[in-house]
Amino acid sequence: MTRSAVATLDVGAFQHNLKQVRKLAPNSKIMAVIKANGYGHGLLRVARNLADADAFGVAKIEEAIYLREAGMTQRILLLQGFADRQELKTLAQWRIDSVIHHMQQVEILEGVALTNPIDVWAKLDTGMHRLGFDPVEFNRAWDRLRAMSTSNIANCFAMSHFANADRRNDPVNRKQIDMFHEYTQDLVCEKSMANSAGLLAMQESHMDWVRPGVMLYGISPFADTWGDQFELLPVMTLASQVIAIKTIGKGDTVGYGGHWQAERDTQIAVVGIGYGDGYPRHAENGTPVLIGGLRYPLVGRVSMDSLCVNLGMDHDVMVGDKVILWGDGLPVEEIAGHAHTIPYELVCRVTSRVRFVEQ
Ligand SMILES: *Cc1c(COP(=O)(O)O)cnc(C)c1O
Repeated sequence: MTRSAVATLDVGAFQHNLKQVRKLAPNSKIMAVIKANGYGHGLLRVARNLADADAFGVAKIEEAIYLREAGMTQRILLLQGFADRQELKTLAQWRIDSVIHHMQQVEILEGVALTNPIDVWAKLDTGMHRLGFDPVEFNRAWDRLRAMSTSNIANCFAMSHFANADRRNDPVNRKQIDMFHEYTQDLVCEKSMANSAGLLAMQESHMDWVRPGVMLYGISPFADTWGDQFELLPVMTLASQVIAIKTIGKGDTVGYGGHWQAERDTQIAVVGIGYGDGYPRHAENGTPVLIGGLRYPLVGRVSMDSLCVNLGMDHDVMVGDKVILWGDGLPVEEIAGHAHTIPYELVCRVTSRVRFVEQ
């Protein structure tokens, strides 16, 4: 029996979650965002299970090429855009769309003759202040893209990205939508703004294309709501096993730094998973794990290869029992809260030591 950590992926949940997206945004096309190795779930596996999406969004050019080499024929958008002339030519060769967020990219496009025209998505910065043109530059860039010979550009799209969509009632969201409308209302093109949070909370953000990421993995983008409340199914369940059970006395401490002290005699289960597997070291005392359907609290610091949970004196746990760290019955959103991070980071950071199994 293996005692290494296992990430079990309920790949059928992808289909279900994609259907939820269609139900919520029936008039929009869906760009499934699968950057960062499919949010840690495996790029190609995710793409194949989301093959009904209208397009894929990735951050890195290698990811886009990898999808093409594997035979994926859907529209693919490079969310960070090309960096130089060579990358642009590569995108054209592989028929990959590019985000255009910088005037330098417009200049590169103007100075090259591509083998075939590409589709570009001009990005307006409506308040995120990360990638994107400010309004004045956006209009200039748009005119130059439109003026360009059709041998380099086939279609132009307009897009923007929310800064605070995970806070549902933040007035910034409304302001960003209004600003996007203001600067794109006269443009005859397809438009896109919504990430998962926009899709779930702001119908007016749906437009022609929605760009869900995290919800496709069954995870809620909101800190105070979990995926099940949106009828999403979690894809990833991270589990390991109890590798030892020991009795400790009142006043004994557990783990590095004596970070937790027993208030009474108790039994501790040592679980074969740690930050070397991607379980967050910052998970605090009391973070729940699931053994035999019951919750037990993490105690002491998470180590590289193991962590400890407090069983109490009255329990049925045995060495070899399966321990669920997040997923089925234990939302990763909840664990993220205990680890002072967001669920995105937890699923992205599962390391290569963990065995991935499809179910
Ligand atoms: C990551 C990303 C998304 C998806 O965001 P989620 O919160 O995971 O739904 C959409 N659009 C852009 C530009 C992104 O970078």
